[in-house]
This record gives sequence, structure tokens and C-alpha cells, in this order.
Amino acid sequence: MKISVFEPEIGDKELAGVIDCVKTGWISGYSGKYISEFEERFSAYCGCKYGVTTSNCATALLLTLESLGIGKGDEVITSTFTMIATVNAIIKAGATPVLVDSEPDTCNMDSSLVEDKVNKRTKAILPVHIYGHPCDMSPIINIALEYDLDVIEDAAEAHGAEYRGRRTGGLGTAGCFSFYINKIITTGEGGMITTNSRELAERAILLKSYATVPKRRFLHEHIGFNYRMTNMQAAIGVGQLERIDYFIERKRLIAQWYNEQLCGVDGLILPKEMPWAKNVYWVYGIRVTSDFGISRDELRARLGDKGIETRTYFVPMHLQPCFHKIGLFKKDKHPVSEMLSGEGLYLPNSTTLTARQIKFICDTIKKTRSK
Ligand SMILES: *Cc1c(COP(=O)(O)O)cnc(C)c1O
Repeated sequence: MKISVFEPEIGDKELAGVIDCVKTGWISGYSGKYISEFEERFSAYCGCKYGVTTSNCATALLLTLESLGIGKGDEVITSTFTMIATVNAIIKAGATPVLVDSEPDTCNMDSSLVEDKVNKRTKAILPVHIYGHPCDMSPIINIALEYDLDVIEDAAEAHGAEYRGRRTGGLGTAGCFSFYINKIITTGEGGMITTNSRELAERAILLKSYATVPKRRFLHEHIGFNYRMTNMQAAIGVGQLERIDYFIERKRLIAQWYNEQLCGVDGLILPKEMPWAKNVYWVYGIRVTSDFGISRDELRARLGDKGIETRTYFVPMHLQPCFHKIGLFKKDKHPVSEMLSGEGLYLPNSTTLTARQIKFICDTIKKTRSK
């Protein structure tokens, strides 16, 4: 038996949408009925007025920064514990990323460390909702209000997650989502900006398509780029969105199965859900501490021998050679993120997994320990 860390569930509705695009010839990304339908429905799901589809989340982040006029000479505060797209987007926009350490419980940006990083050049805070658990947004928003900063949520891992009853993507100036194959819902490749700012949405729509204006098609007043999602991808997104609640409930159920069977195992720290949060468990991440008896990497290898695929946690951004090469973060120290990176492991949690498979994984983990 082989259990992969993730596999998607793509159904008939998605297939029918793609066939419709192909048959009608609407396969590109400049316009198309599925693009507007996906934008309207997904942004409404996030509690936002506007949605702007993009080719992926990296471009959603970059386009958001560009649309807000954030670039050269500006600083953006973000989490060192994230996927590299977050920091790359800031650099590609021409701005300077400033990193903060994480909270051990949620792996999210430690909001108590943010204010110290604010200076005259700071333009935005970019919290990342890690592994499906929302960040504690109130302190972040309060700092942003005090210093007149934008808040851009990297919500690539947290579709449908809730902070005090409100979904991610609508908690700050803008939210950026990914629809990569392994995210909560997928379009293969794809992204979206969600926002309540009409000005931001209009600017993003303009810049994502070479700043083309219908009035004078080949005359351009701004340097835009091509960040478009295709109608075919959006058709898959529309199909996926119909089942988003099911996917999230399933992820939460799998997390509950894991929690029930792994709680009390010495040396394992299980994921948390803060009282004010709804965690969508994009991944089910545990920490393997020295009390476990064997190392995280040894556990991973032994699970691998039994056909159980796992992944280790992110390597923090301040430890990335590519950033050291351009002189960034060389003196940064963020001990919590380094601890998470060293101890963290996430277990298979595809929506297709059964209770028996989860039990097999948990039993294998427990046996591994006692040997
Ligand atoms: C997946 C991910 C991204 C990048 O998404 P793409 O659609 O692959 O560009 C960005 N940020 C975080 C936190 C992610 O997990």
C-alpha cells in the first residue's frame, strides 16, 4: 500500500467545464465566462467584493504589490517561515523583505515582533496563514492602522479558514490565493487576489493584461504584464468551488482522527486550533521532539519504508542561499522558525483517505517509536 502525502479530487463538473471551453474555443485568459464566474463566486466566498484571477499565487502577490505602488525603496514585513513565493514576490516587485519569527503553536508570524520592524520605508505587512491556520490578525491590523500600512494576506494555504468568524482573504487590504494542484481547491496552476478595494481591483485588472485599454487597444500608459489565468483553469475552479466545504470538512475530520490516535504519544506535538480560529488543515503537521526517541528524519525514513509519504516543514527564508547571495538576511536570527523547520513533518491528509488508512499511519508511527 502506498499513501501519498497528497492527491487531488477532480470531478465531472470540472471535466465538463474544460470540454465546454475547448468546444466553444474560449480557452484563453483575456476574458471568458468561467473567469468571471470563478472571480465572483470565490471572492464572495471570502467575503470580498472583488476577485482578480491570476496565473498563480506568486503573480497574485506580485500584482498586488505593483497595484498598490509598492516597489523600490519600500519595505514589506513578512514571515521567515513560509514558502519562497512570498519573499520572491516582494523582491520581484523591487521592494525589500523584512522577516519576523514564528509562533511555535501555529507556525504563523509572531505579531508581537512586527512593530519593532516598522520604519519610514515600511509600506505593508504580509502575514502568511501557514498550513491552514489563520494568523492572529487583530494585532497586525492595529499596527497597520497606526502606521498607515497595507495588509496583504498570503492565503495560499488557507482557503475557507476563519479568523473570529471571518474568512481569510477579506481580513486586510487584499488576499492572495493559490490554486496549485495540492491546495484546498485547485485549477492546476492559478491564483486570485481578493479585495474590497475597488481601486485596487481595477488597477490589478489593468496591470494583469499588459495595461490594455479597450479605447485604444495598442496604446499603453502603464507597463503591465501577463498574469492571466485561462478560462479552462477557471472552469476547473468553478467545479472545485462547489465542493470546497466538503473538502474542508474532510480535512478537519482527518485531523480529528489523527488527533484522537496520536494524542499522548511522547515526543509528538500535534497541530493546534486557537479558540478564535477555524483551521482548515491544509496539511496535518506534527513536530517530532527529542522525547520521541528517534529523529524526525528517521521517522520519515521508516514511514517511507512502509509506503507512507511525508514532507518536512519549510526551510526558513533567512537560511536560503539565494537570498544570502544578494546580501539579504545574513545576520537574521529566528530561532522558533528554525526549531519548526528541524522538527516539523506533515502526514498524508488527502480528502480521499479513509479512517482505516489514517489508523494504519498512526499505528505505524506508534510502532516505529517502540522499536
Ligand atoms: C503554494 C504557496 C504559494 C505559491 O503558490 P503558486 O500558486 O504555486 O505560485 C505562495 N505562498 C504560500 C504560502 C504557498 O503555500
